[in-house]
Amino acid sequence: MKVFVSSDMEGTAGVVAWEQCRAPDPEYQYYRGLLQEEVNAAIEGAEAAGATGFLVNDSHSTMANLRPDALAGRARYLSGRHKPLYMMQGLDASFDAVFFVSYHGSMSSEGATLSHTYNPAAISEVRLNGVVAGESGINALVALGHGVPVALITGDATTLAEAQPFCPGIQGAVVKSSVSRFAADSLHPLEAREVIRQAARTAIERLEEAEPPRIALPATLTVRFRNADLAEMATWIEGVVRNDRLAVRMTDDDPVRLYRRFVTVVMLTRGIAE
Ligand SMILES: [Zn+2]
Repeated sequence: MKVFVSSDMEGTAGVVAWEQCRAPDPEYQYYRGLLQEEVNAAIEGAEAAGATGFLVNDSHSTMANLRPDALAGRARYLSGRHKPLYMMQGLDASFDAVFFVSYHGSMSSEGATLSHTYNPAAISEVRLNGVVAGESGINALVALGHGVPVALITGDATTLAEAQPFCPGIQGAVVKSSVSRFAADSLHPLEAREVIRQAARTAIERLEEAEPPRIALPATLTVRFRNADLAEMATWIEGVVRNDRLAVRMTDDDPVRLYRRFVTVVMLTRGIAE
């Protein structure tokens, strides 16, 4: 039983500011420790239900936020920049379940702490087959491509709600209640870890009932930008067409290819995002 863990950071209990999530701010060293413990709680919960193999793909910022020797479950650690499949690098059909740990609400959601969809400076909304998608829905395309269920997500209530349309039967560990983009009422870290451990355990125990992401193919991603220049630039990529002044769309019957095209849009538009 192998579990693929994609770890972000903004969904960790107690985290409410960008500075807490980025070096060199001194606070970052503290908050990365809280993230590490939440990742470990997810692994330990899965272990308690019989999972034995773990790959943690660090998916936040420089993608090197965790301490390899402090990872539970003797997990393998996939870290560092420039990964072709970005937040989903390393997943293949040999895995039995995907966990999204410390995820966050999408840019267009309401009252979700540190909400964004890949790039808050460029992207204002993403829809997948017409439904607003956070990073969980977009990343679920890769899980669908490999036929692996997304079994667990941790973060605030919005994070869970945005994953549910795409990930049938997903278990949620809600560790904080967002007040605004920059405020949240968080569980005590020890309590948050307990909630995550329980949800991870349940996710693996009920894996037989789980199914791969429910996303009709061919799938269409519609990406709305903060200005028209960003939308125009995105159309330089083959397969990306203009939808309206601020939005583009892309359609593909291969979900992994669609995800890669989306990642290419993210990478390219980073160059002119303010
Ligand atoms: Zn992040």
